[in-house]
Amino acid sequence: MKKYDFIIAGGGMAGLSLAYYFTQSPLRDRSILILDQELKNSNDRTWCFWERSQGPANPFEAILFRSWNTVSFHGTSFAGPLDMGHYRYKMLRGIDFYNFLQNELAKYPTIERKQATINRIKDTPQGGFVIANDEPYIADYVFDSTFLLKLDQPENHNLLQHFKGWVITTEKACFNPEQPEIMDFRIDQQGDCRFVYILPFTQKTALVEFTLFNENLLTEAEYDTQLRQYISLFLDTGAYEINETEYGVIPMSDVETQEILSEHIVRIGTSGGYTKASTGYTFQRTQRYLQSIVRNINQTGKPQRPVSWFKKRFKLYDSIFLNVLEKHRHPADDIFTRVYTKNIRRVFTFLDEDTRFIDELRLFATMPFMPFLRAFFDVLRRKITN
Ligand SMILES: Cc1cc2nc3c(=O)[nH]c(=O)nc-3n(C[C@H](O)[C@H](O)[C@H](O)COP(=O)(O)OP(=O)(O)OC[C@H]3O[C@@H](n4cnc5c(N)ncnc54)[C@H](O)[C@@H]3O)c2cc1C
Repeated sequence: MKKYDFIIAGGGMAGLSLAYYFTQSPLRDRSILILDQELKNSNDRTWCFWERSQGPANPFEAILFRSWNTVSFHGTSFAGPLDMGHYRYKMLRGIDFYNFLQNELAKYPTIERKQATINRIKDTPQGGFVIANDEPYIADYVFDSTFLLKLDQPENHNLLQHFKGWVITTEKACFNPEQPEIMDFRIDQQGDCRFVYILPFTQKTALVEFTLFNENLLTEAEYDTQLRQYISLFLDTGAYEINETEYGVIPMSDVETQEILSEHIVRIGTSGGYTKASTGYTFQRTQRYLQSIVRNINQTGKPQRPVSWFKKRFKLYDSIFLNVLEKHRHPADDIFTRVYTKNIRRVFTFLDEDTRFIDELRLFATMPFMPFLRAFFDVLRRKITN
């Protein structure tokens, strides 16, 4: 049996990005096998993320679908544009990402891609062992993005971010293509956190997405009703046509993930716990973490990413925030209004986990004190008793 240097189990966002970063490093001639059950040839999702305009060049800059300087927000006591300062909000379509990376990876004869369903991944003394479509494969390292997180552990907060969106084309010009709406809370919260998210492409075309943070998925018809209601109440569309549909569920959980599972198996992407638990944003973190893994393998031969002890405080903040949401300690629309309107200079840096502790204290000071204090003690209790 051929032994690969690396097997990438799951060639989605994280898997393809990892292979790409290998090709951009001194490890570019290593043998890599990418296994995925899908061909990844459809526009199955849209990624949005923010980035500093003066930062290092993003490898996907040339294939971005849209990039915006300003975002708009509609909360309980504020509605209007938010100045993002040095940040830009960017949108990348799944299909453009898959095509770009598959073309780039095809330039390397040492990279093989196979369409196959993975049945088993196992550590052995000889290396990471994978069975896919009943065929065995082995490698020095297996990077797994197919593992499903265990979202039923009572000691964790296990919310879901779930959403359904329509790309619509409208009769009347009703969108501002210069300003995506990151959260519009003008809908009945029903005790949850519910908002609409709009990515405008032209004055007459946009992705309009109904999003919830809670524990229970809705039926297809319920998402549709909410979308229809929002469009008729708040958008002066005239007649409209639905061109595409997007549905997704992202874990918002503080379950302890094992990124380095064993000597030869590393979990990456959502499987590796790369999703920011309090927001569901995963794309940029995955890019950062994978670049760090490749750098480390190159320098030390080992994939472990260095994570400073002090950085772990952000996990505590995420747990506290999830606790406030899960226990309905304070209306979510008011919390997000405070987060975005009173902290616009620091909120994106905070969500990137790049703030100084003093700035975090300033942000916390804008939050309702008692609900967050209670959440803090509940999180502490869960940690002590489990
Ligand atoms: C619709 C949608 C929109 C999103 N939008 C955003 C966003 O705007 N911003 C953001 O930061 N994050 C977003 N996310 C969250 C996150 O960025 C994506 O889920 C991202 O694709 C996660 O990357 P991944 O590699 O971990 O998983 P995936 O991209 O899902 O890749 C996993 C791959 O493994 C394959 N696979 C799974 N099981 C097997 C098996 N048994 N055998 C073989 N192959 C297998 C799958 O086919 C898939 O290709 C979104 C998620 C969804 C679902």
